[in-house]
Amino acid sequence: MEIPERRSVLHSWCVQADWDAPAIVGGAGARFWDERGHRYLDMSSLSECCNLGHQHKAVVRAIQEQAERLCYATSAWGAEPRARLAELLLEKSGFEGGRVFFTLGGADANEHAVKFARQASGKAQGWILTRERSYHGASYAAMALSGDSRTRHQVDPRDFRVRRVPPPYAYRCPFGSATEEECAELAVRQVGQAIDECGADGVAAVLMEPDAGTNGIVAPERFWPSLREQSRRRGVYLIADEVMSGFGRCGEWFAWQRHGEEGRPDLMSLAKGLTGAHLPLGAVVLSREIAARLENQMLDTGLTYCGHPLACAAGVAAVRAYEDEGLIERSRRLGARLFSALKAMQERLAVIGDVRGGHGLFAVIELVKDRATRAPVSPWPQLHPSLGTFVKRAREQGVSFAVRGNLILLAPPLVIEEEDLMDALALMERLLRELCWS
Ligand code: PLP
Repeated sequence: MEIPERRSVLHSWCVQADWDAPAIVGGAGARFWDERGHRYLDMSSLSECCNLGHQHKAVVRAIQEQAERLCYATSAWGAEPRARLAELLLEKSGFEGGRVFFTLGGADANEHAVKFARQASGKAQGWILTRERSYHGASYAAMALSGDSRTRHQVDPRDFRVRRVPPPYAYRCPFGSATEEECAELAVRQVGQAIDECGADGVAAVLMEPDAGTNGIVAPERFWPSLREQSRRRGVYLIADEVMSGFGRCGEWFAWQRHGEEGRPDLMSLAKGLTGAHLPLGAVVLSREIAARLENQMLDTGLTYCGHPLACAAGVAAVRAYEDEGLIERSRRLGARLFSALKAMQERLAVIGDVRGGHGLFAVIELVKDRATRAPVSPWPQLHPSLGTFVKRAREQGVSFAVRGNLILLAPPLVIEEEDLMDALALMERLLRELCWS
């Protein structure tokens, strides 16, 4: 079938000549379908963003109703859904007395979080510390913040006053540690050292993912609370990039909440699950203290579509849907099933070197040639050809998986049925057995 998009659209993260995919024309729950009527179980929520499943009825209705009432109001005027969504986000995060700045997605949320941290701390040129092997977006400043193999050559982080430190990647610990706890401790110590080297007065914030991330690292349990403690002790703000980990993905509204007050950041950036991807929307949530510091200063930033009423109406309906359908708890419960099934699969399949996740419907499996040496099936970030075949064959059998390098990322919509989840894992195991990994 002729796909006109092949000739006219510049597609992300691929060689244009290689792009070859059918058009999605509809969806419901954890499935979507293409123009030929093929149905796919979505094991990655497309870009880890359709947390509510496809075409969630209440969200679609809220968008329709808002479109009838009012499509647009600039930030210089109020808009009812914008106010309601800000209140809901402050309530769900326990950031009472704080404020919310709306953006269009994750990259600009992170850029703005950095602006607010610099302005509120009075460190206009303050350094921002981030991690290697992280992803915070593809705009220039977000690329500088990210330690991502795809974008690192496009920008010099020093131009953006960004300094990166090694990640808490326990399976291949950059510090050679033997345990997750030790890796977490050494990674946090490195952040402390980097702050000391720059001088705490010169560092505006540490910006990191508290749990899940596109680069397949899941931080060890103690990493986030100890990072919080380290940054607080040095008087440096902590920004949680919850773009992927928020809205139930890691079993909480926001992943840091698993650690209670011990994990509370000063700012957090949101997108993806905020509307369940029904419309583009991002947000920065600021603590009461930061909001108070900014209260009487000029805020020299803005976006034409800041707090767009249609997107905010989708956000309000999405938050209600997570709540009404108990999706955060569901993610925690099914996430535990997913994790234990993957751990059992690891016992049976030598190619699975590591299984990470377990806090919600997010897991990563890392494929290796040899369990003992942990040699990856392909050097990062190259995609092993068999993983390409895996994706193709799974699609033919009605399941859509996300892969990257030597990783399979599992992040299905939180509404997925348990039986479907288990069927997809059975297919994954079958295909992993059939394919050649040498
Ligand atoms: N931060 C994280 C953790 C992400 O996973 C992503 C996207 O995958 C982003 C930021 C960027 O979000 P966006 O693509 O909406 O700019």
